[in-house]
Order: sequence, then structure tokens, then C-alpha cells
Amino acid sequence: MAILHISGFPRIGRKREFKHALDAYWSGKIPEAELIAVANAIQEDSWRIQKMHGLDWLTAGDFSYYDLMLDLTVMLGVIPERFRGLELTDIDSYFTMARGAKNTPPLSLTKWFDTNYHYLAPEIHASTGFSVNSTAFTEKIRASALHGLPVKATLIGPLTWLYLARVEKEDFDKLSILPALVEAFNNILDESKKAGATLVELYEPVLSLDLPESWIRNLKPAFEVFSKTVPVLLTTTFGSVVHIAPTLIELDIAGLHLDLVRDPGQLDRFLETYPTNRFLSLGVVDGRNVFKANLSLILDQIQPAYHKLGERLWLAPSCSLLHCPIDVLNEAHLDDSLKSWLSFSIQKLDELAILKRGLEKGKSAISQELQLSDHVAQARHETAHAKNNIVRKRVESLTVQDETRDNSFPVRKIKQQQKLGLPLLPTTTIGSFPQTDSIRRARSNFRTGRIDSAEYHEFISHEIRIAIQRQQDIGLDVLVHGEPERSDMVEFFAEALDGFLLTENGWVQSYGSRCVKPPVLYGDISRPRPITVGWAHFAQSIANRPVKGMLTGPVTLLGWSFVHENLSRDAILMQLALAVRDEVKDLEAAGIAIIQIDEPAFREGLPLRQELRKIWLDHAIRAFAIASSGVSDATQIHTHMCYSEFGEIFDAIKALDADVISIEASRSQMTLLEDIPAYPNDIGPGVYDIHSPRVPDLTEITALIERALQKIPVERLWINPDCGLKTRNWTEVESALRNMVKAARCIRSQLQNK
Ligand code: GLN
Ligand code: ZN
Repeated sequence: MAILHISGFPRIGRKREFKHALDAYWSGKIPEAELIAVANAIQEDSWRIQKMHGLDWLTAGDFSYYDLMLDLTVMLGVIPERFRGLELTDIDSYFTMARGAKNTPPLSLTKWFDTNYHYLAPEIHASTGFSVNSTAFTEKIRASALHGLPVKATLIGPLTWLYLARVEKEDFDKLSILPALVEAFNNILDESKKAGATLVELYEPVLSLDLPESWIRNLKPAFEVFSKTVPVLLTTTFGSVVHIAPTLIELDIAGLHLDLVRDPGQLDRFLETYPTNRFLSLGVVDGRNVFKANLSLILDQIQPAYHKLGERLWLAPSCSLLHCPIDVLNEAHLDDSLKSWLSFSIQKLDELAILKRGLEKGKSAISQELQLSDHVAQARHETAHAKNNIVRKRVESLTVQDETRDNSFPVRKIKQQQKLGLPLLPTTTIGSFPQTDSIRRARSNFRTGRIDSAEYHEFISHEIRIAIQRQQDIGLDVLVHGEPERSDMVEFFAEALDGFLLTENGWVQSYGSRCVKPPVLYGDISRPRPITVGWAHFAQSIANRPVKGMLTGPVTLLGWSFVHENLSRDAILMQLALAVRDEVKDLEAAGIAIIQIDEPAFREGLPLRQELRKIWLDHAIRAFAIASSGVSDATQIHTHMCYSEFGEIFDAIKALDADVISIEASRSQMTLLEDIPAYPNDIGPGVYDIHSPRVPDLTEITALIERALQKIPVERLWINPDCGLKTRNWTEVESALRNMVKAARCIRSQLQNK
């Protein structure tokens, strides 16, 4: 018998109930008890689903009110000084760590490995100690145990927690606190066991990175301690761990999980010498994609393992299903044949159950399912709309000229300045303005046919008019149209491009209550007609300052979509780049002098292992070059990225050669500027943290600008928020931007009076 389990189930609820409950709680519309009730209902639902779809173990501890890294940090008692003594309820202190409060900046929010999920980074220092409080965690274990299946408690592992922790302002060896951390973990493991967990899963994606040898050496002693307390499953994911196979094989653990989607090849290496007293969990169904698994292929792949391991073979999705939407059955309006290609979290559980039956009873017992799966694979391959020979030819015939601007940045800068006449320290925003209820309603009414296109058009032009007026009143130097017509920066373009399909309810969590609905990229990409030119032109026509055109870049369009595994990602990337290039040229022709190509996914697309990075970066740079190089020197190309870990991709970012780059910097207090001492073009490190409702005051923004000026010559510094403002409201945005413009102007006039 093969055993089925998962590392985690999506926690937003089938209809994003938890997102709505969180937003309602934060805005004071529902009490804490109601939020808790929604959370509990979602967890119960997830356990019922796991049981109903044939899993052998229930997983507890995968739910979170905001983020599992934060939960673990709180459970370990690693609460930074500024969050202590806030005189708030437990849950509100917790949310303050996530979202900040007046004068209390939150923990820093950063991307989780190569996903588009964001975690909150713990803050540690040499004397960090631990004081475990696992009550909330063990309550979940107790609740899940009532369902009558064995319970596995799941936790982010100690190495991952420690590796991702931030060390502020001092230099110390993180490993020096590992022994204390192991002890704290052991305490949690012990409590989990007492609460009814007969297995504890430690989720350690960090093992797929190039971890220093000293970290790997620490695995053995740590797991020796844990295994004396409770049986432990060590989960590796998001990549291969074949490079540390000997260490993993020797560990004192009950079982090991491998991500066979990312690296099917690693199975053989582990099978060769796998100890007979351990189970091996194989992540065979893609936890980060939405396409049906190719069951015949997987079955062939795992059959030898089943012969060797028997009931010591476990099957699972490749990673936690956090990164996958919940249920294809929620897609009422998808074309049936396209829908038949898809598999969301619940369907993935069914796929596991089919594989299990196939292993135990033979292929004939699942012949119908295999036939269907083969048929789907074939159909997608043959479908006419997945192939476009014209685009393929265009990619093949690209030349070096298509990938380079006419002149270098200093020459371009002069021409752009002549055209634009911007002041020193130009102020701008990143693109979107608050997506108010009325904007959302109008989009949805248009979508469902409740208003016609004339009415919708009227509404959007009104919104753009207001946004332009407000920006002019605030005194910003470079304006944006505000993106009211876009629900999401990727979805909006995906809707307009051929090769994508959109789902209705395919939501996944990005951070906190923020969810995204990645489009499904199933075939060759082409742009049937201009996408943004109309609104950009309109905005410019009513503005008295330059308006930036706003596009999503090829790397982000690829990175934030679910891409069919049979497509060549490199070829698709260049096809996306061509679509963006055509749009850039059309914007220029329509009189738009500044065009921003957002690449917030640039960093997360970076492969986790060093050896794969160069080739990926070369492709990403080339794609950006194709997208951005079709314009004249006088057209100013901006790009935007939302994170602050630049160190290792700095050369690549330079190579993009955008005239201006805006980046997230305020949460880290401009520390990223240490990494980019010699950025050659213009740069706008964010001075306003838009992930939190806090309004930064004048002093704070001034301090950040002054800090930036220590590293960046004034002629090359731009003043802008960290990112787009769509998740904020106008009251916050107006005050914050006024402070920002005022700060820029003060410094400008001080400099001029010198
Ligand atoms: N232009 C986009 C916006 O402002 C950029 C968003 C992003 O970088 N994530 O919303
Ligand atoms: Zn951003």
C-alpha cells in the first residue's frame, strides 16, 4: 500500500472567504470571534477534503492567519523589541508584526524562494533567545485529530527559519544560535506529540539552495535530537537535493520527501542506497501548476520505487498546495475542452488516489483514468490555438540590433532631458492608484454585461481624469494613468494576448489577504492588437506633465503565470518580449515619452541553484532588451522591481540598461543601496512602504532621501514609493504622496541654495 499525504492545503478558502474576513476584521467590520470562526471553518473544510479524497494522513499546522514564517517566529518567542508592550490583544500584536502600525514598522516582507508568495522575515541578533509557546499550534493538531485519521503536524524547519532570518546591523554567525533553536524546536515537537501528532513534518526548502557546508553539517546533530522525540518527515522541495544526498540518506529520520517535479532524476540516486527502515515520499504531482498530471508517465516513473519500497512509498504533491488554486469545479465558464486540461488542489488529491490505485492494483485497474490523461496530453499538444508559426519565425529571426538601444545611457539621458525637462529629484509613482470599490464594481459589471462598453469607457475615463487631477494637485513630476482598467498587472495583459486562458476562481495567496489569479499560459504568444495605447494616450492628452506608459515585462508575464510544462520557457519568454516590444513602439508612436516596463518577478525567477543562474539571467536580460530596445534615444524606459535583495543580480540589473529603475527600499531603510554602489543609470529607491496602511511622515521620508543621497548622485536619484498603490486607499495615498513631494522639494531647494 502506498501512503498519501500533503504538506499543506490552500488557506484562503474556496471563495476567498478568509481574505474577505481578514479585510473585514482589519477595517473593524467584524469582531475577532468571527475571524476565528472563518479560520476554523476553512481548516475543518480542508481536513474534510483530505479525508474524502483518500489521503491517509491529515496535515495540521499548515493554516495561518497571515504567514507560517511569522507563526513560527511568534511560536519561538522571537518578538522584536518594538512589538512588545503594545497593549494589544494577541491577534492584533500578531497583525502588527505583519502590517506595522504608526511608528512601528512591520517585519520585512520578502519572496518565498522562487515563488510569488511572500513571507515575513524574522529578525535575530547574537543574543536572540527562544521561549516557546505552542498553544495555538497544538490546538490545531487536537482539532484535526478529531477526524479519525492519523495526524501529521507540519512546520517550517529550523534551517529554513534561521537561514531566512534577518540580521540587523551586526555581523554574527547565525549558526551560533542553532543549538538553542534546535532545543526550542524539540520542545514544539514534544508538545505536538502530546497533542496527538504521530509524525512531524519539517519543511525545509532551503536544502535545495547551495547551502554552505557548515549548515549541511548541522543537519545530523539536529535530527538526532528530533528523532528521539517524535518520528520526523524531512521535506525538501522547490528543487533537487541530489547534491546533499549522502547526508540526507544518513539522517536519523522517519522519512524524506523529494520534489520529483523539479528533478525527477534524483529518485534513482536516493533509491540506490535508501535505508530499509524509512519511508520515501515522492512529490510527483506539481503543487505549483494547474495542469493535469500525465498519469502514465508518473506511474512508469514510480513503479520501480514501489517495487523496492512497498508501503514505505508515500506519494504527495511536489510542495505545499499553498501555491495552487483550490477547485476546478469552481470554474463555471471555462470552455470544457480547456477545462479538461486543468487540475487544482482538490483534483490533485484525486490524481494521487488514482496513482495509488494504479500501483496497488495494476494499470488495468485505472485504465479509464489513464486513457483520459493520455487523451488530455495529446489534445493539448495538437490543439490549433497552441501553435503560431509566425511568432516562432519572428523569434528565430531576431538580430542583435533588435536587442540594443541606439546609444548609451549618457547620450540618451541628454536627449530625454531635453524632451522632458524634469527637475532634480523627480517625483513619480509606480503605476496603480487605489482600486476603490466603485472601480472593482464597474469592472465586474462590465465583465458580466451589466453595463455596456460605452458606460464602462465613460467610467474609466472619469477615473483617469480624477487620478491625473489629483497627481497634478499633489505636484508629482511624472504622472501615471492609475491603472483603473486593470484588475491585475499580469491578468490584464494575459486577457489581451493569444496563448493565455484566464480562470474565474484560480486564486492563490501572495501575502496576507492579498491573492493573485495567475493566468494559464498554454500555447504560443501573440498580440492581436494594441493593449494600453488608448488609455495612455487619453491620460497624456488631459495632463500638463509627462504621463508614463505602463506595461508588464516579459519575465514577469512568464513568472506569474501557470506555464504548461511542455512549452519551452525560453521560446515563450522571447515571444512575450516581442509582444511587449510591439506595445512599447505603439506607445511611443502615440506620443508617450516615458514607458515603464515592470519586472517585479525578475528576482524570483532566478533559479535556486547557482549553476543554473547565468543562463537564466542571460535569457531574462535578452527578453527585456527585446522588449525595450525598439524606441528612440529620447524615449525614456523605466523598469520597476519590488524587492530589495539585489546583491547577486546586480550585474544583470545593470545589463537591463533601463534609463530609470524604481525599487523597493523603504522597509529595509535603504540598506539595499549598500549592494548597488555603482548603479550607472537613474534610480528611484522607494521612500514609502506601500504594503502597510501607515502614512510615512515628512521627517521619515526626508531621512530616507538623505540616506539615498549618500550613495546616489543627486542627478540620478528619483523619488517614488516602493510599489504601486492599488491596495491602499486615497486618504493614505494623498497624505503620503504630499509628504513625499514636500520632502523632495525641500531637499531640492536646499541643494539649489547651497
Ligand atoms: N505598475 C504596477 C502597479 O503599480 C506595478 C506593480 C508591481 O510591481 N507589483 O501596480
Ligand atoms: Zn512593485
